[in-house]
Amino acid sequence: MWIDREACTGCGKCFPYCPVEAILWHKKDKEEGSTKPYAEIVRDECVECSVCFKAKVCPTDAIRNEDLEWPRVLRRAFSDPFHEHKGTNVPGRGTEEMKTNEVTGRFRDGYIGVGLEFGRPGVGVRLGETEKALKRFVQMGLKLEPLNPLTQLIENPETGELKKDVLNEKVLSAIVEFIAPFERAQEIFEAIKEIGSEIHTVFSLDLISKVSPDGTIPVVQGAEKAGIRCSVNGKVNLGLGRPLFHK
Ligand code: SF4
Ligand code: SF4
Repeated sequence: MWIDREACTGCGKCFPYCPVEAILWHKKDKEEGSTKPYAEIVRDECVECSVCFKAKVCPTDAIRNEDLEWPRVLRRAFSDPFHEHKGTNVPGRGTEEMKTNEVTGRFRDGYIGVGLEFGRPGVGVRLGETEKALKRFVQMGLKLEPLNPLTQLIENPETGELKKDVLNEKVLSAIVEFIAPFERAQEIFEAIKEIGSEIHTVFSLDLISKVSPDGTIPVVQGAEKAGIRCSVNGKVNLGLGRPLFHK
């Protein structure tokens, strides 16, 4: 995304729409000594979410969309929910409906789904930060979700290292995902607490689990034992989703 300086009047209407404050307001053009104000998108900070463009608030149509090349195109794929990842054909940050509307039947008895959601509107994340978690989980022998767009950016499956040219790409949010046997939950919680001290952005932990017949959710008890406070969210889908697979 970029702003055509000639067309921009510096009215400021677009500023509140940027979730990462990447639009700068210049009160006057210092180079040319003009007093004409104008706005500028800081290219390295922009996550290509398209919000400023799609909001249609610019009175002079000065905000311009552009075709993005690799690796910058990843910013849009992770940050604009209307843009699909080429490798997964799913828009957004993780696998399809991974958190609240699980429709794939992946989470079987005795297993938990784990997601680490890096970044948020107002903060964002460089993909290099997510690599710290990817490497740790690979070292632990955990199998990262193959249909997750971050997993597909891994260059070395033995170490979890991402492709070098994607590390500095900034996105609104990205999710590290995997499924693990329930008995490894405590070990995973301890690793996440350690990873937390190395990450230079916000992240939250998603735990996906079946509810026991008695109404309890054992993984929540396990997390709280490890000092991780859980907020339980759930959705009940009737007649939605795809047929479950049986293995
Ligand atoms: S595309 Fe998104 S991140 Fe970039 S300037 Fe516009 S609103 Fe901000
Ligand atoms: S809304 Fe348009 S004219 Fe106003 S500051 Fe933003 S880009 Fe410039």
